[in-house]
Amino acid sequence: MKWKKDIIYSFIVCHLLAVLAIFPWFFSWTGVVFFVIGCFVFGVIGINVGYHRLLTHCSFSCPRWLERTIVMLGLCAMQDAPGYWVAIHRKHHQFSDEENDPHSPLVSFFWAHMGWLCVKSDEMKRGPLTERYAKDVLRDPLYAWLERNDHWLFVTLLSWLVFFAGGFGAAALSGASWQEAAQFGLSLVIWGAALRTVVVWHLTWSVNSVTHVWGYRNYATPDVSRNNVIVALLVSGEGWHNNHHADQRSARHGHKWYELDVTWLMIRLLMALGLAKNVALPSPNLAAKFNAGDPRVVPDQAAGVSE
Ligand SMILES: [Zn+2]
Ligand SMILES: [Zn+2]
Repeated sequence: MKWKKDIIYSFIVCHLLAVLAIFPWFFSWTGVVFFVIGCFVFGVIGINVGYHRLLTHCSFSCPRWLERTIVMLGLCAMQDAPGYWVAIHRKHHQFSDEENDPHSPLVSFFWAHMGWLCVKSDEMKRGPLTERYAKDVLRDPLYAWLERNDHWLFVTLLSWLVFFAGGFGAAALSGASWQEAAQFGLSLVIWGAALRTVVVWHLTWSVNSVTHVWGYRNYATPDVSRNNVIVALLVSGEGWHNNHHADQRSARHGHKWYELDVTWLMIRLLMALGLAKNVALPSPNLAAKFNAGDPRVVPDQAAGVSE
């Protein structure tokens, strides 16, 4: 087995930087606010809305300027360039929990969570994989540029620098000493960038690991995907993963009235503002398609989509 040493080192460094948040020297309430808002902006808007539902599944369309803005937010979550992310996720849907699935927990829970990211393999080579699964994404010259020569990583790290420079500059301008300004800038980097990045990583990864292991199933899909309430609440709707595997294009992953899907609410907001068009809704025939005569699905679960 060949390891991706650069990825492993970056995971270690980012986790160690995130741990610095426990030291009071790196604490500021502004940093905490940046952490909370950052989880939402880069995780929910960037990854869930942008990378996942918009780019991977084309669940809706929006003006190019808005799409690129949302995708750049996703980029700042440090989960690789959009084309590669989309390619891996589309492959996951094509081979869910089969041998060619990039991250099925049928190998092991740790593999599905983050192990698969650390291993080199021919099947996961960036060029052929994006060429095969994300050609449409690479048609945008910006996304194609991000894919080349680790440009995506430089842009992400640049965003960390902006956190530091913004904090440092704001504190210095308000009369703080150089040391206080540096301390404030670093608190934004540790809380608003490092800790936020690591938390959003584990939240995204839990969709690949936890929701293919624990939870209930509305639909008897051929994979082992599950709807997991805790992941759905923590990851703003992405945890209704069995619903999502049953109906990949749908912009709405929460199908029952009680399946709260905050990411869908964000797309609803874009619709209300006239910014989201061609929004894919859950197919009304899902229950019939997957559950007809399936003894593993209890009748009330077979009811399907309800408003
Ligand atoms: Zn899945
Ligand atoms: Zn998906």
